[in-house]
Amino acid sequence: TLIPPDTATCDDCVAEVLDPTNRRFRHAFTTCTACGPRFTIIGALPYDRPHTTMREFALCAACAAEYSDPRDRRHHAQPIACHRCGPQLQHERFGQVTTGTDDVLAAVQADVDAGLIVAIKGLGGYHLAVDATSDEAVNRLRRRKDRADKPFAVMVADLDAARRMAHINDAEASALRSPAHPIVLLRARAAGGVSPFVAPGNPLIGVLLPYTPFHHLLFGRVPGADIRPPSAVVMTSGNVSEEPICFDDDDARRRLAPIADSFCTHNRPIHTPCDDSVIRLVDGSELPIRRSRGHAPLPVGLPGAVVPTLAVGGEIKNTFAVAAGSDAWLSQHLGDMSNHETLTAFESSVARLTDLYRVDTQRLAVDAHPGYHTRRWATEYADRLAATTTADVELVEVQHHHAHLASLMAEHGHDGRRPVIGFVFDGTGYGTDHTMWGGEVLVGDYAAVDRWGHLGGVLLPGGDSAVHNPCRTALAHLRASDIDWSETLAPVLACDETERRILHQQLTRSTNCVTSSSMGRLFDAVASLLGLRHRITYEAQAAIDLEFLADRAVPTSFRVDFALHDDGSIDPAPVLRGLVRGLESGVDRAALAYAFHQAVADVIGRCAERIRDEQSLHVAGLTGGVFQNVLLTRLAGERLRQLGFEVLTHRVVPPNDGGLALGQVMVAAHRSRRPAGLDHEGSRTACV
Ligand code: ZN
Ligand code: ZN
Ligand code: FE
Repeated sequence: TLIPPDTATCDDCVAEVLDPTNRRFRHAFTTCTACGPRFTIIGALPYDRPHTTMREFALCAACAAEYSDPRDRRHHAQPIACHRCGPQLQHERFGQVTTGTDDVLAAVQADVDAGLIVAIKGLGGYHLAVDATSDEAVNRLRRRKDRADKPFAVMVADLDAARRMAHINDAEASALRSPAHPIVLLRARAAGGVSPFVAPGNPLIGVLLPYTPFHHLLFGRVPGADIRPPSAVVMTSGNVSEEPICFDDDDARRRLAPIADSFCTHNRPIHTPCDDSVIRLVDGSELPIRRSRGHAPLPVGLPGAVVPTLAVGGEIKNTFAVAAGSDAWLSQHLGDMSNHETLTAFESSVARLTDLYRVDTQRLAVDAHPGYHTRRWATEYADRLAATTTADVELVEVQHHHAHLASLMAEHGHDGRRPVIGFVFDGTGYGTDHTMWGGEVLVGDYAAVDRWGHLGGVLLPGGDSAVHNPCRTALAHLRASDIDWSETLAPVLACDETERRILHQQLTRSTNCVTSSSMGRLFDAVASLLGLRHRITYEAQAAIDLEFLADRAVPTSFRVDFALHDDGSIDPAPVLRGLVRGLESGVDRAALAYAFHQAVADVIGRCAERIRDEQSLHVAGLTGGVFQNVLLTRLAGERLRQLGFEVLTHRVVPPNDGGLALGQVMVAAHRSRRPAGLDHEGSRTACV
């Protein structure tokens, strides 16, 4: 038995909702067997109405007839309802309550038109909605949500409206309209009609189309009301900064009260919260950035069977996986685990998913980072499990970048019999030598990887504050490359004398510093060196700038190159020196940014060739958060294919830490202290 994911309202249902002669005309909860809420309303299996949050709504005679008629589109459609028997909308502002579909919709449209912030209860939780065309409204939302620059997603009525805001190719258009209706990151048009504060300084805009009947009605005229429907609405997760999305009505009222001016709710409870999914497209293929609504909790088939396993994922962008046999059910997006509310949401989601699939966890897979909250939680959970069961519960540590690579192999169905070359580039992950890794060239399989090579370790200022200040990372990289902190360089100017002095002391005495081979930090450093951005307010902000500057480059002959040493260490000093020379001789900054991307792609090719010469391996994978960069993924992929490699990139789970859990399942299975009995035929009798 499967729990289906939530699916966007189908065309047939939309047509009914907009048809004045249909009995579901303007019914905001219209669904059928092909569409509607599933995962978010299911409390138990089998999937029947009494096991969903629709159990509170008794079917009226007309709905019951449809439900029991095998020829009807709604035959055994569990969540169906109509005006008579279904859930009801409610709007509330300053204690004034409005009910009735049209009055509620008119009130919401009036609020949006007036620039107010509306908390709207949707499928998997609350959204915060404001008029995306109003600078003032968007900025108020930013202030109240305590969110400086991180882009907001925008919902528009249809594909035509989306095309007015962004450049959309065929693949992007079909992704927008796919059953999951994800947020698709698109190239924003210069005069796209939305406020620049929706995605300040960001060339991409996250767009999504209406995926519930309510959304469709929101963008249409309300009969009898004299209000202009909105043209574009910011739809951002109803939460405070990094907290999980609100889905329980009382909790939402409490947590969102300081942000929202009004509430639009309904009385169909949400059982499991689920954020919107986010994707980008690379050469026509989907690159998942966040795998959530529309996908969770669809299983990913494993290349081989495993004992019941809970893989707890990483620390940021957390998702976890519950696996048994040859299926891994991946959770919805949960978020940043350093946040107490997220940890609570994580815990209840684990309980729900293991309950639903009746998985009696025998193995826990955790990241090896001693500071991760997921790891600490899993250690306590293992003790609790051991106390309540006679089964042997084991906890297996999985190195961060090994998990990234395994996750890429698993989604491509690799059985692990042939080792794979993995380029695992991300911001940070705990290495086996207790330093911070993130520019890793790994060769191996599920059982083990060899750290064949890596970006040269550089002493970087440690902690969060350095991550938020790419100019400090740039200064550390300049120092490591023996480049003077000359006041002609942008990152040097970005730090005042005090900051520079402290940094100098830190790096000289190696206090508050970490040795890091992070490729993500190198992207930050280069973005600062090119004067793009010295301070960031959200993850990868500087790297995104760098990608898009490079994207605008016109072809030049300017090149920089990493030094690849015999021991596999990749030295960035020649790249940094080359870029500084380029800056001094007035080379266009876009050309410099492009040359940097090219250098990374090129050194990937050189490493792969050497590994092929040594070990005759022909499959190379690109994974880790850095490969959310479409330009880099494309350049590196092209380079590897030119050289004759089969290239693996992500299509199912994100390259970022949101995809870790799948790999943890596989590595833990092969690293288990239990007798191996590896079974590559995928037979369920021999679990690993
Ligand atoms: Zn439908
Ligand atoms: Zn009914
Ligand atoms: Fe990572």
